[in-house]
Amino acid sequence: MSIKENIDEILKRKNEAALRCGRSPEDITIIAVSKTVDGSRAREAVMGGLENLGENRVQEIMNKYDELQDLQVKWHMIGHLQKNKVKYIIDKVELIHSVESIELAAEINKRASQHNIISNILIELNIGEEESKFGINEISVYDFVSSMEQFENIKVMGLMTVAPYCENPEDVRWVFKKMKDIFDKISSMNLKNTQMKYLSMGMTNDFEIAIEEGSNIVRIGTAVFGKRIYKEDK
Ligand SMILES: *Cc1c(COP(=O)(O)O)cnc(C)c1O
Repeated sequence: MSIKENIDEILKRKNEAALRCGRSPEDITIIAVSKTVDGSRAREAVMGGLENLGENRVQEIMNKYDELQDLQVKWHMIGHLQKNKVKYIIDKVELIHSVESIELAAEINKRASQHNIISNILIELNIGEEESKFGINEISVYDFVSSMEQFENIKVMGLMTVAPYCENPEDVRWVFKKMKDIFDKISSMNLKNTQMKYLSMGMTNDFEIAIEEGSNIVRIGTAVFGKRIYKEDK
């Protein structure tokens, strides 16, 4: 199947999942995860209707940012971000999904302030508390988001998680439920610099379940571009 056909299939599944739980399909954004995919195929996804592209490496954003400059791409940083690389992407990305330390937030704040912009971020949670994953645990997240009040050039727009991989996506439904619960609790805290709007969860294997539980940003790679050939950095 072509990338365009893949996208049409995903849109159909997204619409059905939204309607199943009484939500409006337009309220759910699909990010095409173009990591390891070359610029010309990323371009096909944008032309096919997915203007939001997600990457997990700074270098890849920079390369494709230049290559696709003629398109209206909205870039998303979804992978682990090293402090010393923040400066390269701060003015290029729409949303940083993967903030999970005060030090990283401080660096984003500093660079955003130098550019005179407000940087939109999500806080990454590790709900399964898997050793192999980045993210803040459920207990620490309330203090963490409160501490974001000190950063004037950051706006916390919501939460992100990568659910543990399970053959049967029903087995991770609880993770998405828990995320929605934390999301609602933080919303009711009415913090400065925080405007809870996005719940970024759901990937190729589990995005319909994530939508049913309240996700409004799903990050989809394999179902758009096919299986990734190259090994990715974690
Ligand atoms: C790779 C990746 C995705 C997409 O995964 P697929 O299973 O290929 O859809 C989503 N989110 C993050 C953070 C990723 O690294």
